[in-house]
Amino acid sequence: MSNATPLPLYAIGLGSNRRHVRFGDPRAVLLAALAALESDDIEAVDASPIIASDPIGPSRRRYANAVALVASPLSPPEMLERLQAIEASFGRRTGQRWGARTLDLDILLWSGGAWSDGTLTIPHPAIEQRAFVLGPLRTIVADWLHPLTGRSVRQLAARLTRPKPVDRGASAH
Ligand code: ATP
Ligand code: MG
Ligand code: MG
Repeated sequence: MSNATPLPLYAIGLGSNRRHVRFGDPRAVLLAALAALESDDIEAVDASPIIASDPIGPSRRRYANAVALVASPLSPPEMLERLQAIEASFGRRTGQRWGARTLDLDILLWSGGAWSDGTLTIPHPAIEQRAFVLGPLRTIVADWLHPLTGRSVRQLAARLTRPKPVDRGASAH
């Protein structure tokens, strides 16, 4: 059966800074997580290289990070629920935000644009400040436009790495 309507696309951010008893180091955790994402209603379209990044927050362990592009008919809340089930299946304990974790799966971008309810915000609010997100994201969807700012992923990544001007007279934003 052919389906003329293209499926929605999601960019999913993957992070790990803990070994998994079966899969091994954080890099291996991400490879296993990429495989776990694929299912009857989540189709893998592309994946970035896996990078290593320094931790944010209280944990001092280094992270492995990557971004996956998937196509899925799931709604954003359904996708979040699915991602949380996968996190749980990798032994993630709920609790401290930014704490050491086996697997973090965040929805970064959605082809439907913006979404905001009590528990879910798309685009992910921290995208623009995070090199470990924008770097991998740029390798697979450089031309994707942030729906709220109109800037492409490529532009956002360039802004983040560009040195800040020293001019204190310029208005803050
Ligand atoms: P950060 O969101 O800053 O990367 P985190 O990923 O460590 O932090 P979590 O503990 O994984 O945070 O998630 C906290 C809550 O964030 C989740 O329960 C979920 O409801 C909410 N949330 C809001 N927007 C998103 C999103 N775009 N993707 C995933 N979770 C989100
Ligand atoms: Mg996160
Ligand atoms: Mg998260």
